[in-house]
Amino acid sequence: ALVVQRRDKFPSFNLPRRVPTDLKKPGLRIVVTGGAGFVGSHLVDKLLARGDSVIVVDNFFTGRKDNLVHHFGNPRFELIRHDVVEPILLEVDQIYHLACPASPVHYKFNPIKTIKTNVMGTLNMLGLAKRIGARFLLTSTSEVYGDPLEHPQKETYWGHVNPIGERSCYDEGKRTAETLTMDYHRGAGVEVRIARIFNTYGPRMCLDDGRVVSNFVAQALRKEPMTVYGDGKQTRSFQYVSDLVDGLVALMEGEHIGPFNLGNPGEFTMLELAEVVKETIDPSARIEFKPNTPDDPHMRKPDITKAKQLLHWEPKVSLRQGLPRMVSDFQKRILDEK
Ligand code: NAD
Ligand code: UDP
Ligand code: UDP
Repeated sequence: ALVVQRRDKFPSFNLPRRVPTDLKKPGLRIVVTGGAGFVGSHLVDKLLARGDSVIVVDNFFTGRKDNLVHHFGNPRFELIRHDVVEPILLEVDQIYHLACPASPVHYKFNPIKTIKTNVMGTLNMLGLAKRIGARFLLTSTSEVYGDPLEHPQKETYWGHVNPIGERSCYDEGKRTAETLTMDYHRGAGVEVRIARIFNTYGPRMCLDDGRVVSNFVAQALRKEPMTVYGDGKQTRSFQYVSDLVDGLVALMEGEHIGPFNLGNPGEFTMLELAEVVKETIDPSARIEFKPNTPDDPHMRKPDITKAKQLLHWEPKVSLRQGLPRMVSDFQKRILDEK
């Protein structure tokens, strides 16, 4: 009865799982959920450049068509406005599952929607992966470690997370997404990969998404004071987006499930970050202290030994090298606003 029900629900259930090779175009067919966002759009650039066919699935909550407009007209590119909380039928070889707001301001905007995206969205993409035999990659987060009691964080650390706080829709949501991913792997034989991404910055971040690097850069360019939350002694480790994209592809193509930390171990206090932004943009930039948000992790730094050994990956771009590349993009967009 179950099978009959499935056939009704998914008419293509009877189709062969793999398209015969002589019918297949060269290159892989890849879905990128959240591909209109910051990280996703850079990933799409890389996949299209190497010759794959890419379908972006995005509801444009925080993503923008502008991030992908340079691919419109490319026959190997397709953009679907769709919310991953709803089921979808597609035929592909790989699924990069990024759909989820990443900035605290965005994910706290509608917490119920955020947790639905993490749980139901991930479930749907895993169901899709199971039906078509595709490999599935989850972009999880360093937030699964919560306010960590271990420093730096290794993948073996189980975390220190508040299950009922304002951040829980995101960090507990991603923890559940990791659980679902492993359950579909063990229980349904889906090929899976899990990345735990640490703070990442670069061109195409939303100008006002509230994350610290985008805030400081936009503020310094607009000649506004840089807002430091709390005492500014909390730390983060900042990764440039091209390093992350290389890591995601190495993980998807490699033999190991993970989870893998993908981040740059260079650790900065928020006051040190403000100094680097000052040096890069405007030596006269000022800072202004503001109250911090609840449950803000005190420190965060990845241990990337595992990714180095098993994926032969490590970040190449330092904060001082990466910031100027982001600044030119922000400068242009801030001028366009005027
Ligand atoms: P982003 O907000 O720029 O991109 C997220 C994309 O997902 C947007 O295009 C948005 O419109 C789309 N989206 C959100 N909810 C959706 C839904 N229900 N259905 C369809 N599309 C939806 O964020 P980002 O920085 O590019 O992050 C991408 C992924 O990486 C996220 O899963 C995030 O949790 C993870 N991550 C990012 C960072 C970081 O520092 N950027 C750190 C850790 C993890
Ligand atoms: N799903 C989907 N596309 C597919 C296959 C499944 O969106 O091609 C969704 C489906 O609607 C379900 C979820 O993925 O909500 C989990 O699917 P699975 O087959 O694992 O579970 P079931 O349908 O048996 O509950
Ligand atoms: N932060 C800050 N000023 C800002 C925005 C953020 O000092 O304008 C701090 C925030 O309190 C946190 C750190 O910067 O300690 C990183 O915050 P972000 O929102 O970028 O990412 P998170 O790592 O918290 O997800």
